[in-house]
Amino acid sequence: MKGVLIEKTGGVEVLEYKTDLPIPTPKEGEVLVKNDFIGINYIDTYYRSGLYPAPKPEILGREAEGTIVAVGSGNLYDLKEGDRVVWLGTGAYAEYTSVPAAKTHALPSSLEPGIAAAVLLQGLTALTLIKEAYEVKKGDWVLVHAAAGGVGLMLCQLLKAVGARTIGTASTDAKIAEAKSNGAEFMINYKAEKDLVGKVKEITGGEGVRVVFDSTGKDQFENDLEVVARKGTVVSYGNSSGAVPPFAISKLSAKNVKVMRPTLFNYIYTREEYENYTGQLFDFIVKDGLNVKIHETYPLAEVARAQTDLEGRKTTGKLLLRP
Ligand code: NDP
Repeated sequence: MKGVLIEKTGGVEVLEYKTDLPIPTPKEGEVLVKNDFIGINYIDTYYRSGLYPAPKPEILGREAEGTIVAVGSGNLYDLKEGDRVVWLGTGAYAEYTSVPAAKTHALPSSLEPGIAAAVLLQGLTALTLIKEAYEVKKGDWVLVHAAAGGVGLMLCQLLKAVGARTIGTASTDAKIAEAKSNGAEFMINYKAEKDLVGKVKEITGGEGVRVVFDSTGKDQFENDLEVVARKGTVVSYGNSSGAVPPFAISKLSAKNVKVMRPTLFNYIYTREEYENYTGQLFDFIVKDGLNVKIHETYPLAEVARAQTDLEGRKTTGKLLLRP
């Protein structure tokens, strides 16, 4: 089958497009899916670079949609050959992936092809961040970094639906416009603005924000501690600019600040949690018109160009691959 293998960590040059990889055999509790659309996520670049360790050789990629073509043994949640599903797992950058049945979800028939693969991981991240990492309430001031990214655009829309007041950051005028049209009330160009902290304080009448959702990591962490209000929460959930270095917890006592470092997979660990949040997410699309912005659908063979665009801050919304 076609697929993208990495045998060692490094830059995009370690992504090897192959046409002769073996098709996996589903084990107990797994189903084999022929993938139609594969979602790219920033986390894929961490496994490629080695920021997150994983055994090699490895096929990257955490989500896709497609058709079940074979089933393993054990509890498969009534899944059968021919079912159309979207899934979370590992090894997505390939024509076929064997995935845990517990992390599949029936593809809603009303969705255009590619939308489910485009929304699942980033949409679930945004949903669980605002419900569990910090439960956002109507009227809360919220700061969302990288607001025009994949998770960022989801956060902007879901926060608007809750009635929160969102301040977003982004690096270009086009990204600022995109985040605003997805629900951000105020936007700051954090590349051009020299006094981000002052700007956030000005917008919030000196109070600061109840919560910061920061996917950039290292670059904004010190600012986060400055802009968060007394008794507020800093949710640091990504590393696009590098990992947050160790810091002294005594810093938090200045305003009784909470710092969270969540990962999606711990919020959707059980089948019940996964089905609950996935159901809510698809309801947001089907019933409430959640907009899923696709930046580009790249051929699988051009995965290096896709990851270069993502890491080069050239994208808004979601990147997809087609095998
Ligand atoms: P994005 O689409 O948000 O792409 C990354 C964006 O980050 C860029 O477009 C850029 O926007 C911004 N950015 C800021 N600083 C840098 C930098 N130094 N280098 C590159 N980009 C930078 O990606 P995703 O939506 O896939 O993921 C967003 C983040 O959320 C990632 O950090 C990811 O790891 C994290 N994440 C965490 C999860 C979890 O479970 N904890 C789950 C899902 C995602 P701009 O140009 O506007 O600055």
